[in-house]
Amino acid sequence: MEPKSLLKLLVETESPSHDKAAVDRLGAIVAEEARKLSAQIEIISNAETGNHVLARFFPSAGAVSFPASAPVLLLCHMDTVFPLGTINRFPYPEAGEKILGPATLDMKAGIVIALGAIEAAQKSGLNRPVTLLCTSDEEIGSHTSREHIERLAAESALVLVLEGALPDGSLKTWRKGVGEFRVKAKGRAAHAGGDHEKGHNAIEEMAHQVIAIQKLTDYSKQTTLNVGVIKGGTVSNVVPEEAEIHVDVRVMQPGEWERLVAEMQNLKPVLDGTALEITGALNRPPMPFDETMKATFERAKSIAAKISMELTAGGTGGASDGNFVAPLGIPVLDGMGAVGEGYHSEREYIFTNSMEQKAGLIASLLCNW
Ligand SMILES: [Zn+2]
Repeated sequence: MEPKSLLKLLVETESPSHDKAAVDRLGAIVAEEARKLSAQIEIISNAETGNHVLARFFPSAGAVSFPASAPVLLLCHMDTVFPLGTINRFPYPEAGEKILGPATLDMKAGIVIALGAIEAAQKSGLNRPVTLLCTSDEEIGSHTSREHIERLAAESALVLVLEGALPDGSLKTWRKGVGEFRVKAKGRAAHAGGDHEKGHNAIEEMAHQVIAIQKLTDYSKQTTLNVGVIKGGTVSNVVPEEAEIHVDVRVMQPGEWERLVAEMQNLKPVLDGTALEITGALNRPPMPFDETMKATFERAKSIAAKISMELTAGGTGGASDGNFVAPLGIPVLDGMGAVGEGYHSEREYIFTNSMEQKAGLIASLLCNW
């Protein structure tokens, strides 16, 4: 299908992460498009979230190279943060150089680019296998897709993540790791008027903890903590028995997550008669701009130069499935999708011409890596 028509179809087939039927509808379209390019399709079924679509493309018999090369893995996700019906308020118009619409950038244009790149590479005699994995749960932590991402990355020579590029077109060559802590404070309920002194106020306790946790942020180490959710209490005339916070954590440097775990485990209640319960997990490890990343970027840059494209490198505090690949030591490049802005908002758009440019770049990487 012509890229813009395919993008329109993918954007209009809304696919919020938590709606299995919706994501599966999108998966069926993606599988069909991949079949048109002679892919071998495996649907990895999933009970809770949408199925993952795994498409393997093999070189035509005449084009096989010896020794056989390892595949390049193209990593896309099909789920979005937008609930069904967003498209009615925020439709898909082409506005001059831009295309708007929910999840255009993150990352339905990425899927279009991946398929376009494979098609272009096949036309110029692709002589290596290519694997395309389109997952269903990236926006909610990749809990069911992670094992497949890691397994397929481990057998690949290069992994390209089709998330949007930075607004200036730069690739994402570093990403922070992301984790979450949850803290519960437990106190003792009492009547706020008659028995105030007998209560232990869990919200007051939590207020002390919130300040302490925010202070663990260290910009000099690129470590941030954000108490993003707070809840507690029932009604104003009861001393609250419980309060809870959710804390987003971003780390870049080795050892920082471990430092934070130790600090969090050391938190002690400030008030008499209250207790704390602390849990946490690192969802995605950091993807640092290390030696492997430098070498990968430089090689991609020289391949891009041959088609007169200048690649630039940047990074972001946001994490992606690329974060799972980097610690395996497999070369990975992220931000290989469209160029645009407005992630996760109703201002999301891509620059139309970036689809063709990125498909050309990826085709050239597939043929020359
Ligand atoms: Zn994304």
